Amino acid sequence: MPTNDLIFENSFEHAAVGMAHLSLTGAWLRVNRKLCEITGYSAEELMALGFQGITHPDDLARDLAHLEQLLLRNITQYETEKRYVRKDGGVIWVALHVSIVLDANGQPAYGISVIQEISARKKAELEIAVTYQRYLALFEQMPEGVLLVDSELRIIGHNREAELQLQYSAEELRALHIFDIEAMDDMEAIAARRKRLEAIGRDDFESIYRRGTGELMDVDVSVKLIHLLDGQLMFQVLFRDISEKKHAALLIEKMAYGDPLTGLANRTLLAERLNQAMLGAHRRGHLLAVVFLDLDGFKAINDQYGHQSGDLLLRALAARMKVGLREIDTLARLGGDEFVAVFQDVPDAQASVPMLERLLSVCSQPVNLGTMALKVSASLGVTFYPQTDAVDADQLLRQADQAMYQAKLAGKNRYHVFDAEKDRTARGHHASLERVRTALQNQEFVLHYQPKVNMKTRALVGVEALIRWQHPVEGLLAPGLFLPLTENDRLSVDIGEWVIHQALLQLAEWQTQGLQIPISVNISAMQVQQHDFIHRLQDCMQKFPALNRNALQLEILETSALEDVEQVARFVTQCKDLGVDFALDDFGTGYSSLTYLKRLPVAVVKIDQSFVRDMLLDQDNKSILDGILWIMRQLQRSVIAEGVETLAHGQALMDLGCELAQGYGIGRPMPVADLPAWKARWENDLDWKEVALVPRTAI
Ligand code: C2E
Ligand code: MG
Ligand code: MG
Repeated sequence: MPTNDLIFENSFEHAAVGMAHLSLTGAWLRVNRKLCEITGYSAEELMALGFQGITHPDDLARDLAHLEQLLLRNITQYETEKRYVRKDGGVIWVALHVSIVLDANGQPAYGISVIQEISARKKAELEIAVTYQRYLALFEQMPEGVLLVDSELRIIGHNREAELQLQYSAEELRALHIFDIEAMDDMEAIAARRKRLEAIGRDDFESIYRRGTGELMDVDVSVKLIHLLDGQLMFQVLFRDISEKKHAALLIEKMAYGDPLTGLANRTLLAERLNQAMLGAHRRGHLLAVVFLDLDGFKAINDQYGHQSGDLLLRALAARMKVGLREIDTLARLGGDEFVAVFQDVPDAQASVPMLERLLSVCSQPVNLGTMALKVSASLGVTFYPQTDAVDADQLLRQADQAMYQAKLAGKNRYHVFDAEKDRTARGHHASLERVRTALQNQEFVLHYQPKVNMKTRALVGVEALIRWQHPVEGLLAPGLFLPLTENDRLSVDIGEWVIHQALLQLAEWQTQGLQIPISVNISAMQVQQHDFIHRLQDCMQKFPALNRNALQLEILETSALEDVEQVARFVTQCKDLGVDFALDDFGTGYSSLTYLKRLPVAVVKIDQSFVRDMLLDQDNKSILDGILWIMRQLQRSVIAEGVETLAHGQALMDLGCELAQGYGIGRPMPVADLPAWKARWENDLDWKEVALVPRTAI
């Protein structure tokens, strides 16, 4: 039977952990085999070195301090983790447990150290710590706000971006529930989301969050369900502020269909409804009345009482006009003080008279604004559909507009009916397609050039070539008088090519004179539809091989570009290879313009005159313009405003940060010979020099 001593001896020597006995001065009295194995030293070497000799220098002070406490009997044992340096120089981690053994009198006899190697555990711990550090760095640097939410939807973690966006401190956030942030209280939607999350593990949606300040923000949210190792569930919520995007989207929607000031339909919706109504009129055999309404004396009110009163007046009148309308009728505001009403299912022309008189009457009733009573009246132009000739919606609007003008001339506050028959016979006398064809052969067309400038730097950035017909009898004719005749004819393509050729000749001449003035040329819808358009352009350009790139720019009407966006987008790209950029002309007159624009890689967008004109009339138009400019900056398109007729327009545009402009107020279209004189005048114009200094203010 082994003695107790022997049992003790064996268990000391063969223990699976390192062991050592310590003297009361801290020297090693004996060490076991395992300790030799751990450290790589023999027992003799260890006894000579003592624990001081193998403890890592950085850990020694702490160890000695512990030991001192033990020997002073302030404590009877201690535990610590520290490093040893092995005989082979390697560093290992050990967990150390030291205790004092007392003799029969209760006095300290010697100490026992139990030493366990824990290098592997330490390594794993370090790896976890580094992984966590990396994860934190990632988490903190994410551009999205991140919230970690437990299964009760309490916030248990977040990143710095979340604090910034939600405007809460870290402590505040940690005390919140997701419902303190989520401003959407549609419980059904929330329950549906939760279901989706549990079924497929993630969910993406738009929502509204409430900031600490109480302010709301639109957010794009992406939630992931995470199963933690301990069996708990956690949600990772990523969110991004999309308030600005939302705001722009609302503007687009408003622009697409509604007039923001009055809530009436806008030009786009009107066009849609009018086309539908025209189809309906055919089917039902009824008449359609199109009424163009322009207020009399509105400008005076705007000037005298200010835009705000003007806006209120427009809203009040719009609301009144709407009252008597039937479901099937449409009332639209085109901008400024121009409205259009479409009456459907009118049995005959006479039947529309009461409706017209009602419109006249409601417009001439005073509108009370506070103590003021504002009074205007309206001039109406009416046309009916169908007519003997085929007409389209645009023509109907033009006819009604023309008739409205007659009503104004006849003394205002009345209506005038467009006489389709008289117009038909009169048109017969006008230029015919054949006559326009001979004009091209006889070289009767000329190009005039209208300057485009940067209002801030005051530089001439280019000119637009605009065709004129030098008619031997009727004098100089504007394109509106003859181009529409060619619209659906091959002749429009020939004229278009003549214009391009002419512009290239001009560019070449300027280049030999050392002038660099880019020319933009208008392209007709028919031209764009030619499948060999690019080849013909290429042929044309090859005749001028010395010409600089980007000297020629093409302008395509928004309305024709939208007919086949994919095709036009291809042209635009191919033209870019030829060094020819595209501009989208009359922007804002087409349908859902902004959605399409993304797909059309045009370099320049020309804001239609009507926007610029109406910008001074109502604040909403200005906001829309501001919205468009913002979006264009996002899409990195350059923007030029057309129809800048006065300094006030220039100022307002500069105010919005739109620096490029074209219009009568800067320079009218002119023969090329007049350009130098214009330029000299422009460069010395003191008023425009002042416009150049208008700083941008956010609206
Ligand atoms: P556009 O391309 O939008 O050209 C601008 C039109 O606005 C020009 O009318 C110009 O004289 C006019 N304009 C410029 N500044 C102002 C302003 O401050 N106020 C006002 N009220 N009007 C201003 P224009 O020369 O009568 O041309 C009318 C349209 O005819 C052009 O509109 C363009 O679409 C078309 N056009 C002109 N030349 C050509 C051409 O060579 N080919 C084709 N396909 N179309 C042409
Ligand atoms: Mg143009
Ligand atoms: Mg234009």
